[in-house]
Amino acid sequence: MNIKGLYLEELAKQLALLGEPAYRAEQLLQWVYVKQAESFEQMSNLSAALRAKLAEEFTLNAVSEVTTRHATDTTEKFLFQLNDGSLIETVLIPATPGLTSTDDRQTVCVSTQVGCAFGCKFCASGLDGFKRNLSAAEIVDQVWQTQKLTKEKVNNIVVMGMGEPFANYENVLRALRILNAPWAFGIGARKMTVSTVGIVTGIRRLAEEPMQIRLAVSLHGATDDVRGKIMPINRKFPMNELVAACEYYAATKGKMLTFEYILIKDVNDMIEQAHKLAAMARRVHAKVNLIPHNPVEGLGWQRPDRDRCKVFQHVLRQAAISATLRIDKGADIAAACGQLRLQCERAT
Ligand code: SF4
Repeated sequence: MNIKGLYLEELAKQLALLGEPAYRAEQLLQWVYVKQAESFEQMSNLSAALRAKLAEEFTLNAVSEVTTRHATDTTEKFLFQLNDGSLIETVLIPATPGLTSTDDRQTVCVSTQVGCAFGCKFCASGLDGFKRNLSAAEIVDQVWQTQKLTKEKVNNIVVMGMGEPFANYENVLRALRILNAPWAFGIGARKMTVSTVGIVTGIRRLAEEPMQIRLAVSLHGATDDVRGKIMPINRKFPMNELVAACEYYAATKGKMLTFEYILIKDVNDMIEQAHKLAAMARRVHAKVNLIPHNPVEGLGWQRPDRDRCKVFQHVLRQAAISATLRIDKGADIAAACGQLRLQCERAT
């Protein structure tokens, strides 16, 4: 049982079974989340006998660093190994004054699965197929290790790394509740964004959650024919069902959601797609995040030139849609989803 996957009350119950008083759970979690202890041995105000008992019953670390790549724009990408040897990626994206904004946001992008079954055509994560879901502890520990390695206080979470979060719904929500808990990271739910490939059932389920988590939907096409070429999931959940679920989310939560749109040269960057995207965004009160494609080795698609991206953005803005064109972060460290892991696995 990994401590980073447990709620305070669950840990208290487990400790009660070992004959420990209720306050012990808080004491232990302080060691984990405030003092960032890496082993039970370091928990010096617990007796040696208790530390030995804890080490028998629980584990503390779920991921460990294999390598870190630093981009010139200060983005850092971590390749982590899980206890079964699988590799996953986590990215720290600091707000960079002059590049994005002047605030002190430290965003961590976490993975939720090893590999991915969804096979989006622009993405490296799905190239070697799906292996397994991550546990809540493995998701939480990505943030924990990132804080420990960088000494930065993480205050923003995006669930946009390897895997589809709604295909691992229970563990992802458990991890987000732990990251939100005052006894763990205390990161506000409004500072968390879950990004989905468009799993309609997951969108509707998230709308019912009491936590005010933000939603981003990977659209990447504004019509079924264009989106279908890029995202196989469109066959299962076509645009009309997806947009209806987004409308439901927006109405239930009273919140704006984001459409993510990776611009791929001559595939989805046509002006006619921009007009259709604008109409859809207006319907569900979504803002649009345009991301120039990061070419992936082995996948043929290209990024449109900057002018083309700007024209696409202009069409949206003319239609009064809030549309940002992402400044490319981390391109020099294989920041596109799954690339670092793929490079490492194929090199070994
Ligand atoms: S974009 Fe996300 S859902 Fe699509 S293949 Fe990559 S990891 Fe999977």
